[in-house]
Amino acid sequence: MSEKRRCMLPYDEYQSAGPFWMESTKRFMMALVPVKGVKAKNLLLPYARYIYSVANGVRLASSLQVDHVDGDRTHDVRTNLQVLTGAENRLKSMVERKSQGTVAEMVCPDCRGMFFREKRQTHLAKKGEFTACSRKCAGRFRKKLQDARAEHAVRAELTLKDLMRNNFVRWINNQNPTGKVLVEHKMVAEPWEDVSTATS
Ligand SMILES: [Zn+2]
Repeated sequence: MSEKRRCMLPYDEYQSAGPFWMESTKRFMMALVPVKGVKAKNLLLPYARYIYSVANGVRLASSLQVDHVDGDRTHDVRTNLQVLTGAENRLKSMVERKSQGTVAEMVCPDCRGMFFREKRQTHLAKKGEFTACSRKCAGRFRKKLQDARAEHAVRAELTLKDLMRNNFVRWINNQNPTGKVLVEHKMVAEPWEDVSTATS
């Protein structure tokens, strides 16, 4: 590990060691330790996330992921990093993996969350009335359908049918699934300062 250096915003209450290679994550990582007098937990984060956060002066919500635009997880330079939601990131890998296949944007009839699925894994390609985002949601929604039909609850069944009608949103088969344009980063300095100069 390299020597500790005082971090810049948004990690200015930490000093950092790294970047260092971590075999279990197959990425370069940063270890952040609070500076003396600061009560905070130690942090271990991917170098890419650290670079992005410092370049933009923001700490990212845990639901956001720092993605390597070119797909190389070790290519940790600012111009190769963009922020994606988990759903966007899954869509990106899906389309990259199956660039010839078609992906559906869908809304789960049970939890009503948006998700993406390859066509062949949806009810549009195989048997079934709907596609849920997870097994849990699928089971729950199937139960609701069964109950409504068993009880001849017409209104409830109509509501469920409406949800199934809105299950499929659109096909996605372009090569830029996220539709995001890379934002140019403003920062020009190195993302850290020496402890000696920062504490003077
Ligand atoms: Zn769901």
